[in-house]
Amino acid sequence: MWGRDRGVAFGEVRHLIRKETHQLPKARGECGSMPDEMASPLIRGRGGSRYFEATMSELDAPVIGILGTGDFSRSLARRLVASGYQVMVGSRTPKRSVALFPEEAEVTSQMEAASQADLLFVAVFPEHYSTLVQLKPTLAGKTLVDVSNALQINKDGPSNAQQLADLFPESVVVKGFNTISAWALQMGPRDGSKQVFLCSNSSQAKNAVAQLCQRMGFIPVDMGRLSSSLEIENHPLYLFPSWRIPVLCTLILFTVFYLYNFIHDILQPYIRAGKNNFYKMPIETVNVTLPSVALVMLALVYLPGLLAAFLQMWWGTKYRRFPNWLDRWLTRRKQFGLCSFLCAALHAIYSLSLPMRKSARYKLLNLAFKQVKNMVEDSWVEEEVWRMELYVSVGILALGLLSLLAVTSLPSVSNTVNWREFSFIQSTLGYCALFMATLHTLLFGWDRAFDPAQYHFNLPPTFMLVLILPITVLLGRMVLFAPCMSRRLKQIRRGWEKSRHIRFILPEDNGYSGPEDISNV
Ligand code: NAP
Repeated sequence: MWGRDRGVAFGEVRHLIRKETHQLPKARGECGSMPDEMASPLIRGRGGSRYFEATMSELDAPVIGILGTGDFSRSLARRLVASGYQVMVGSRTPKRSVALFPEEAEVTSQMEAASQADLLFVAVFPEHYSTLVQLKPTLAGKTLVDVSNALQINKDGPSNAQQLADLFPESVVVKGFNTISAWALQMGPRDGSKQVFLCSNSSQAKNAVAQLCQRMGFIPVDMGRLSSSLEIENHPLYLFPSWRIPVLCTLILFTVFYLYNFIHDILQPYIRAGKNNFYKMPIETVNVTLPSVALVMLALVYLPGLLAAFLQMWWGTKYRRFPNWLDRWLTRRKQFGLCSFLCAALHAIYSLSLPMRKSARYKLLNLAFKQVKNMVEDSWVEEEVWRMELYVSVGILALGLLSLLAVTSLPSVSNTVNWREFSFIQSTLGYCALFMATLHTLLFGWDRAFDPAQYHFNLPPTFMLVLILPITVLLGRMVLFAPCMSRRLKQIRRGWEKSRHIRFILPEDNGYSGPEDISNV
């Protein structure tokens, strides 16, 4: 598409490329400093000949220019050549850099590259954009792709791309490729990120770059006008922005529960009876803390949905905005769920390792010895056996359901299910997981809640504290199941408003309200 009407000039360029292709091996031998990985071709032709590949870059292939000969430029040139483009690289010192590029790419002066190509990648750091101003008249009417990244998150602008557009007002600037590393370009889209975010004020130029993206095997994502370039430049600099609160919550809960368990199970026996239980700190206390965090975090996944539902019922409309904190909480539910899954998985591994500990073996031996000494025939306690069997079984089921929720939250998996299926898994099965995990904790507690000996320092056992939130969420959910509540909520979700007093009949109102109908916010 680019430069099709410049047949004569292209003919000369092709001639030059062929000439160079024959001459270069000698020059390369002289240079001898090229790293091995850069020297090997990215994609070999069937015969393994690079010249054959050059001729495969069909003669009418568009010419793409690259300004700069750094890491990004070299990887990009290889990718473009492998995708069948003719590449002209513009350098301040072409002779110095020629050996680093594939033979099929022509390394020339910046002016020559700017005049031959209609679309040029600016693979130069933004600090040096001003040194390119002598190319301004040559670059007029051409497309410049700004691939630069920012050094730090820039909230106020202008972005690098906007600065480039200001420097070259007669050129069209497209922002893109900055989220793709030189390494990912070398490897091609089979490894690393595939998405290329693009934005520009010219949809024609943006489409041209999008086509080029696709031909290189990447997926272009249209991000709109050039004003989005600030966001695109900030994108690679964010450090897990949506994970901050869930991770912080997990850490805070872990610290609080760990300290509570330490005081309850280790400090109290030591102070009261001089019993040394400090050996429990690395495994046992951690293993009691992890499921507490997992259960509370899982309850925190479903609590905001309930709050949102009750707020909508209270307001009698779904058209009022939720408070900001609730909005943010609702959008972080996946991260809360994955943190809960991590704690539950760690709890399972810790539990499996419990019998491997020396302390557990000594305890077992001592118990057996005591039993022999006291001539006790049978230590089988039927109730304890049943409690343990049920406790373990329900725990495994809860972990299984949580794993399912975690797997289906992955974009690649969630893209394969429709909205109803996704909602069924995340909402209905999610509540089942919460119920199972709560039951698991109840079975762990059994009748110990009624045993005064469990209230060390007048503190209730940890499992009692942990159960407060999940039981509240499960009860809240049951309230929403009540026909009058679920019917009203369903009406609100379909646009009914209390203040308008409009007669409202639900389509196909058969009185059924599936679990997923009332939980989606
Ligand atoms: P680099 O290795 O330092 O290369 C920069 C090139 O700019 C130099 O090789 C130089 O080539 C050219 N240049 C032109 N005018 C210059 C001047 N006045 N002073 C210094 N150099 C000048 O950098 P890079 O890693 O390729 O990155 C280039 C651009 O790509 C940056 O904006 C970066 O943010 C972006 N980017 C890089 C990556 C990556 O993985 N490396 C990923 C995404 C985006 P000549 O000497 O031949 O003129």
